[in-house]
Amino acid sequence: MPRYALPCSLVLFVTLYGNACVAQTAAAYPHEQADLHELAAAPDEARLHDTIATLVGFGTRHTLSDTASAKRGIGAARRWVQSRFQAISHDCGGCLEIVTPSQVVTGKRIPKPTEVMDIVAIKRGSTDPQRVIVMTGHLDSRVSDVMNATSDAPGANDDASGVAALMEAARVLSSRDNRATLVFAALSGEEQGLYGGKVLADYAKAQGWQVEADLNNDIVGNSHGQNGVRDNTTVRIFSEGTRSTETPEQAKARNYFGGEVDSPSRNVARYMAMLADQYLPDLRVRMIYRTDRYGRGGDQVPFVENGCPAVRVTEGHEDYTRQHQDLRTEHGVTYGDTIDGIDFRYLARVTALNTLTMASLARAPVPPAQVSVSGALATDTTLRWQKVPGATGYRVHWRDTTAPQWQYHRSVGDVDHYALKDVVIDDWFFGVSALSADGYESPVVFPGDAGSFEQGHAK
Ligand SMILES: [Zn+2]
Repeated sequence: MPRYALPCSLVLFVTLYGNACVAQTAAAYPHEQADLHELAAAPDEARLHDTIATLVGFGTRHTLSDTASAKRGIGAARRWVQSRFQAISHDCGGCLEIVTPSQVVTGKRIPKPTEVMDIVAIKRGSTDPQRVIVMTGHLDSRVSDVMNATSDAPGANDDASGVAALMEAARVLSSRDNRATLVFAALSGEEQGLYGGKVLADYAKAQGWQVEADLNNDIVGNSHGQNGVRDNTTVRIFSEGTRSTETPEQAKARNYFGGEVDSPSRNVARYMAMLADQYLPDLRVRMIYRTDRYGRGGDQVPFVENGCPAVRVTEGHEDYTRQHQDLRTEHGVTYGDTIDGIDFRYLARVTALNTLTMASLARAPVPPAQVSVSGALATDTTLRWQKVPGATGYRVHWRDTTAPQWQYHRSVGDVDHYALKDVVIDDWFFGVSALSADGYESPVVFPGDAGSFEQGHAK
């Protein structure tokens, strides 16, 4: 029985002021799901290897490379990914729709008008098709000169690893009922200026997708840092602290009331860290309080700029001799992003983190809407929210203002407000999550515009 379900939650509600049933609220984790344990073990190292080997075999996947050849260049790579999505769809009775949104763009790194095309597989949700969870990686690759579209650019780790992860996630999740819609997208144009991410973010907007998260996987397959460190148990999740779409008025309110470390993207990162702790004992999420690595970017950026929560998933330790390099040996150092730099066991664990996050988000209700908190000059704190479809209960969370992760929670039943007795508003950060009848939990929503998952809320 889910922890919040009757009869104990009824006892909790009825005896609220008597402080009964408090012991059940101390655990930090949601209800355990057998299928998430299965998903944790599902990614197949051999398939991940075959995908990367095939993608490397196209020589270069530079955005400006040949699109007509059947063997070399971005066009051949795109058509192969599309054929793999079709094969996965065939195996699940045609469960995937495959679309190829594109835009013709020019820019600093695209001198002539060039079509940037994404290859996208959509698994429509059974009960909440308008709610969308996205996983992205980029297909294009490069060498030292970003304009060189002809030299071999294997891009095994950057970012065939991300594409392999999302194709494996599509295979694993396509046979399951996930309630909300899942989108798996191999993007192009990343190295030329994050164009493929923009193509997909714009497509999502035009389609009216209610994107709850984009998990952007870029450089996720190497466990050997350039300085010699070996670590196959850490993955970094980068997330913005405040919303890219925040208005000056919202910034003013946030500056006073808090929320500078509680954007919806940040609470997706916390959600992933919590799921890793529960289901992946050999993988730790290191949350990084930044949109991306210092001075660098990724395809999650166009999503957050469109108001959609998004994070960057990337390996714990990078090896820069393998990124954006001409294949060569210099002073005894071998440069280039070749397949021998991939740790497939590690890549499988990162893939698992993505699949079980997508499943958990999609099967949980939409995060609560219109969350607010009050309680100044009182010893109790009251949270209010709008009930959301599919939720049969809610959970109120709080943490120290300096704590990175939610520390305490109380399951409060199917209500739209709750007063936490003897918890003083001044001393904690608060949030609310929604629970499904079978115990799947949404991310925690921080009150106000700063934490809202509602799209268009902070435009
Ligand atoms: Zn990349």
